Amino acid sequence: MLKAMDQPHPSGCVPNSITRFAPSPTGGLHLGHAHSALFAAARGARFILRIEDIDAGRCRPEFADAILADLHWLGLSWEQPVRRQSEHMDDYRAALDRLDGLGLLYPCFCTRRDIADEVARSGHAPHGPDGALYPGTCRGLASAERQRRRSAGQPYALRLDAAGAAALAGPLSWRDLGRGTLAADPLLFGDVVLARKDTPASYHLAVTVDDARQGVTLVTRGEDLFAASHLHRLLQALLGLPVPEWHHHGLLTDDHGRRFAKRDRSLTLRALREAGHTPAEVRRMAGFP
Ligand code: GLU
Repeated sequence: MLKAMDQPHPSGCVPNSITRFAPSPTGGLHLGHAHSALFAAARGARFILRIEDIDAGRCRPEFADAILADLHWLGLSWEQPVRRQSEHMDDYRAALDRLDGLGLLYPCFCTRRDIADEVARSGHAPHGPDGALYPGTCRGLASAERQRRRSAGQPYALRLDAAGAAALAGPLSWRDLGRGTLAADPLLFGDVVLARKDTPASYHLAVTVDDARQGVTLVTRGEDLFAASHLHRLLQALLGLPVPEWHHHGLLTDDHGRRFAKRDRSLTLRALREAGHTPAEVRRMAGFP
């Protein structure tokens, strides 16, 4: 038996809301995705779709096509156009320029190894939702040194100066329909990467810009991304974007309480369909009777 961890999850439509489902085309959709998509569609008076394909190394156009086909098969429909992140790099660049203009970005030349070594050396590095926070090695680099490394072609990411950002934004709050109004914790992710060395935007930046561009008023997604909303609230304030509401849903788990992952191939929508399950059965398995 499969169970949805929301107990019970309010799945009624929120009047006038615009919700979205935003899968990354790095593989086939599984039952956990179906739960998320059905949750978003049920909550939204209008429902839109976004393909989160900024990570060119992991995303494939054929997965994006398969995702749309699976969602159709499940019985979902959405408004056009579907936004594909890879077509909107200019929007992310403009957002980065704005943050840079506020003096809140700095180039970070550290490798993963440099960071791990620095964290190990410090002995008591504070941790965030994604592990140890960046120890700030490149924050204080002199501008001549930054210039020298850039000119030498050393690759760099762009990080947010979280303390500076928090001071500029002042106290912020956000509303989750399941948990009520929360004070935002802008320092939760520390000096987070907003543009990666290999991709000129990070998940956090792109999602925040896209939700605003697409007019999303209610961001629905799994509990696993709950912490990210603290940071997205901060980015909205810095970028002057409208503030939506959020509703984080519980994660669908198997009999052993494990959440689904892309490796559970037998539970992809494609495999279930090929095994003869109907869309109605799969919707039920995904917690939507
Ligand atoms: N693209 C993300 C994922 O597939 C979801 C992003 C979001 O809903 O904010 O996990």
